[in-house]
Formats: sequence, C-alpha cells, structure tokens
Amino acid sequence: ATPTSIMAGSGRAAELGILFKGGEHLEAAQGIQVVVLDKTGTVTRGKPVLTDIRTTPGIAAQGKEEAENRLLALTAAAEKLSEHPLAEAIVAGAVERGLTLPEGAAFENIPGRGISAVVADEAVRVGTRRMMEESGLDIARWTVLMKELEQQGKTAMLIAVGEEISGVVAVADTIKETSKAAVESLQAMGIEVVMITGDNEITARAIAKQAGIHKVLAEVLPEGKAEEVRKLQSGGVKVAMVGDGINDAPALATADTGMAIGTGTDVAMEAADITLMRGDLKSIPDAIRMSRKTMNNIK
Ligand code: ADP
Ligand code: MG
Repeated sequence: ATPTSIMAGSGRAAELGILFKGGEHLEAAQGIQVVVLDKTGTVTRGKPVLTDIRTTPGIAAQGKEEAENRLLALTAAAEKLSEHPLAEAIVAGAVERGLTLPEGAAFENIPGRGISAVVADEAVRVGTRRMMEESGLDIARWTVLMKELEQQGKTAMLIAVGEEISGVVAVADTIKETSKAAVESLQAMGIEVVMITGDNEITARAIAKQAGIHKVLAEVLPEGKAEEVRKLQSGGVKVAMVGDGINDAPALATADTGMAIGTGTDVAMEAADITLMRGDLKSIPDAIRMSRKTMNNIK
C-alpha cells in the first residue's frame, strides 16, 4: 500500500462522511466477511415511542383508562431516573398524556434487564421476563400479551408493583429508511449480515425481517456482545461490528473493524476504527468498497 493511495482513499471516504482513524483501517476493511449490526440506534432510529400500556386484563372498561394512567405514572416515575432510550420513551409518553409523575427514590439500574425504584411507597420494577423470573415473580398470565406486542416489533416490558406483575408497557422503534438497502448491498457483495441486541428474540426477529437480515443474536447481555464477536471471528473470519452505544464499545474494540455511528455516544466512537458521520448504514458498503478499490489500485 503506498501512502499516497491510502491518503487519497481516506480523503475520498471523508467526503462521504466516513472517517478512518488510520490508513491501516482503510486497508483492513477490504477483508471484512461478516458485518454485525447493533439493533437499537444502528438498524433502527433509536428513538422509541410509547405505544401501549396495559394493566390487569378483565378490568372494568370504565375504570380501565384510569388504571392504565395510574400504572403508567408509577412506571414513568421509576424510569425518570434512567437514561436508557426506552426509559425516555416511557417518560415522554406519560408526560404527553398529561400525567403528573410522583418522585422516585432508591433507583437501581440492572444492565440488560431493567430498572427498579421506589415510587409512592411502592417497589416498582420494569424490565424483561428474565429479570422478573429471576426475582421469582409469576409472569404466566402476561406471556400471550407480551408475545403479541413483540410480534409487532415492539419492545414490551413487564411492570411489577410490589411482588406482583401489574402490567406491560411497550415502545416501538422504527428502522431507518435506508437500513434495508444497506443490508441488501452488503449481501450482494458476499458479506454476511448479523443483527445483535439485548432485546428479546421475537422483537429482534420482527425488526430483522424488516431490514432483510436473516441471522439474529438476541437477548445478549451488554457484556456478551464482545464475546459473540469473538465467536464469529473463530477460524480467522474477519468481522466488522457497527454500533452506537456505550455497551457496544467492547464489541467495537474486539472486532477486526469497529464502526461507530457518528450520532451515537463518544464512548463508541473512541472504541471504533471508523466513524460513520451519517447515521446511514449505506456508509458500511461504501467504506468496504473504498477499501477494496484503494487496495486494488496498489496491487
Ligand atoms: P439494547 O441492546 O437494545 O441496547 P439493553 O441491553 O440496553 O438493549 O437492554 C435489553 C433489554 O433490557 C431491553 O430490551 C429491555 O427489555 C430491558 N431494559 C433495559 N433498560 C431498561 C429500562 N430502563 N427499563 C425497562 N427495561 C429495560
Ligand atoms: Mg444501540
């Protein structure tokens, strides 16, 4: 690789909003065989919106809205202390409905699972099936509703008040307009595309389907993303990881090529080798194509 051709390639890439941290990354990108895409904020917009709040099924129709609003206020009060995009969506949804949120206390974040807090003297927990089951709560009567919401591509979370599940809250995040085209173009280049997420299997599959992705790694805990990348690398397979979040950073660093979304967190950009200034995933095939071209020119 001549320094001149690398410099020219990096310059052309920069014009497209693709920033290589060094010439070696421009050289390496040509060899990528597998691209792993984080779901939230990478494949999707990362701006979830509250869609559903459901409480005890069979409650009298008259008192239904009131009961739902009461539960949503408790849930949002607990989530107000979290910085997770899911939490922001729940709080924004509650505020939009004109609800007043009580003060929360004793907030605790359980990464990859959910949160807990004390609101109006009640212990409120919001999170995954796994989180509730690990706490010994009975989720049986909620599983049909959870599945129904998840099949629509929504992220559904169980709400426990005290020792009982009191309802379900769901949010929806939509895929970016260009995600599907970007995936198709990678596949046409002979590259395998995998989506990875902490979200549940059913939601993940619904979103992946919309983006044309066939392979999904779901319910991966934050510390597990790097491990999954390592597994995909076995036998010397060259793997690129694309993500935006703090919990993507170890996987971005582990991958042969880490690509951070420029609108994401600083931590992700620091861990990555390439920053995609446009949130558009079409920058991924563009980056690989540029690398292939640059390397061909000099061989
Ligand atoms: P992602 O890969 O989408 O960033 P996370 O690892 O942050 O996902 O979270 C995995 C799952 O844990 C979420 O899909 C959600 O069900 C649950 N969860 C995480 N944070 C919260 C929260 N603040 N409130 C409720 N549930 C949460
Ligand atoms: Mg993300």
